Amino acid sequence: MTSNMFGGGSNKKATKFSFWWKDIQKIISYSFRDPLVDSCRFSVHNGFATLFWEARWLNVTSLKDLFPDLYGISRLKFVSVAAMGGWKDGVWVWGDLGVSELEMGELGLEADFAVLLGLVEGFKGWKGGKDSIEWDYSEDKDFTVASCYTFYNNLRIHHGPPNRNDEAFGLLWKLDVPFKIKAFGWRLFLDRLPVKDLLKIRGITIPLDDLNCFFCGNWLESSSHLFFSCLVVKNIWSEIANWVGKGDRVESECLSNFMDWHLFFHSKKVKHRKLGVVWLATTWTIWLVRNGACFQKEVWNVNNIVWNAKHLAWRWSFCGKITHPNYSFYEFCKDPLHFLS
Ligand SMILES: [Zn+2]
Repeated sequence: MTSNMFGGGSNKKATKFSFWWKDIQKIISYSFRDPLVDSCRFSVHNGFATLFWEARWLNVTSLKDLFPDLYGISRLKFVSVAAMGGWKDGVWVWGDLGVSELEMGELGLEADFAVLLGLVEGFKGWKGGKDSIEWDYSEDKDFTVASCYTFYNNLRIHHGPPNRNDEAFGLLWKLDVPFKIKAFGWRLFLDRLPVKDLLKIRGITIPLDDLNCFFCGNWLESSSHLFFSCLVVKNIWSEIANWVGKGDRVESECLSNFMDWHLFFHSKKVKHRKLGVVWLATTWTIWLVRNGACFQKEVWNVNNIVWNAKHLAWRWSFCGKITHPNYSFYEFCKDPLHFLS
């Protein structure tokens, strides 16, 4: 189950689990970073059941998140802590952690590796017996599928006074878009995407050059900045708004923004299950471009982002029941409201 939780298990194995567990796994498999993983801590005893890179055992953060570049080149992914070294005359000696010196040199990661080695060498918790796992969300710290399911449900249920924007959650799940896009929207609604300000709050010191927004470079990257209030991103929204004939007012709060667009498309008689398609195509494209720029140093420009968002909206307009069976991207671009209605 541990390796399944971290994405290392095969799908075949999943059939042995209950449908609840399959549901949970489905959500996890589409998550860039998951609250479930964040809520499990491993206590290493003999090191055989704890994943070296992927689990949280040494630090509040997994080593994979602390050293993403080293993790990227390590040939020893999804292996246990115990597999990363051996005992020599009663002293634990770490191996190369699957990282080749040559590749490390090419990427200039020697300093990162030295820090990592310093961290793991400081680990003195070896004990006999099996590793244990603690789950923050049940009283006795035991992980059960039931407690996990309750945890996920609680993420969705807002406590406190009802908010008119809460209906956004229900509307999102009804949309005709691929499942992983709904899962993305759900995380965006809950402010659970790994944007830089959240990573900082969690104490994750990932080696990002700075914490500012990749698009404008001027503001701390928060979810509301990155998706709605950044000046560059506002240009993207303005182009999209112009395309569909909406005023270019941009709500900076996520749920209000979603509902604003939702009401606009509703007033234009767009089909119920298509109401959020353009909004999701835009936010998803912004997220993909941001990740490409952040992790692969990909270049971007506003025109391309707008084109990609329109293209996605066109592709998703064919999801689910369709009234217009066949139309080109160029036809769609000329009158998107017609084809979404
Ligand atoms: Zn910005």
